[in-house]
Amino acid sequence: MAKTKVLIVEDEEAIATLLDYNLTREEFDVRIAVDGEDALMKLQEFHPDIAIIDWMLPKISGIEVCRRVRQNPDTKNLPIIMLTARSEEADRIRGLETGADDYMTKPFSTAELIARVKAVLRRIRPALVEDVVAYGDLRIDRTAHRVWRGDKEIHLGPTEFRLIDHLIQHPGRVFSREQLLNAVWGSDVFVEVRTVDVHVGRLRKALVKFGHEDPIRTVRAAGYSLDLS
Ligand code: CA
Repeated sequence: MAKTKVLIVEDEEAIATLLDYNLTREEFDVRIAVDGEDALMKLQEFHPDIAIIDWMLPKISGIEVCRRVRQNPDTKNLPIIMLTARSEEADRIRGLETGADDYMTKPFSTAELIARVKAVLRRIRPALVEDVVAYGDLRIDRTAHRVWRGDKEIHLGPTEFRLIDHLIQHPGRVFSREQLLNAVWGSDVFVEVRTVDVHVGRLRKALVKFGHEDPIRTVRAAGYSLDLS
């Protein structure tokens, strides 16, 4: 299973390092951004699954980063935990209104933050933390690498399994071929974009084998999405 990607946006090096160490130990793939500008850049490059964003940041504030994340269609559903040194209730409410899913007031315990990260992911992106994920009549067991539609088991090759595993984490979201290449094959592997079409074709064929509805939507000039509507 691919590691869950966490972006830490924190200018205080001691805190960033501590979080990096502890989240890495918990099997997360961690990247650090040191200010608001760096955060916006790394959001585009790293495509995190969750972001931990400090309120007070150089250049662009944490609140503003949060606002921009919510405005961008690519990142608008990104789970965000805000870190704040302010404990006033008004600030907490403002933080949540800006679009944070949870917040923690400094100083906090690392164990509690990790628990919150997992809780937010479980609530917003269950596919990232659960072994068995279901969407419509589609169900996948990520530990056993098994896939079912209704009560019929679907047999998939490893690449097709990684494809469906990625798509089921974001039902309804359209992925370009390049994004699927990066997510499924990795950005350091040279694979032709057309290869994605071949494997999506194989996946689709397997998923409709027992006469079920085709769950993969082809979006012309854009890419593919998993969509059982
Ligand atoms: Ca700070």
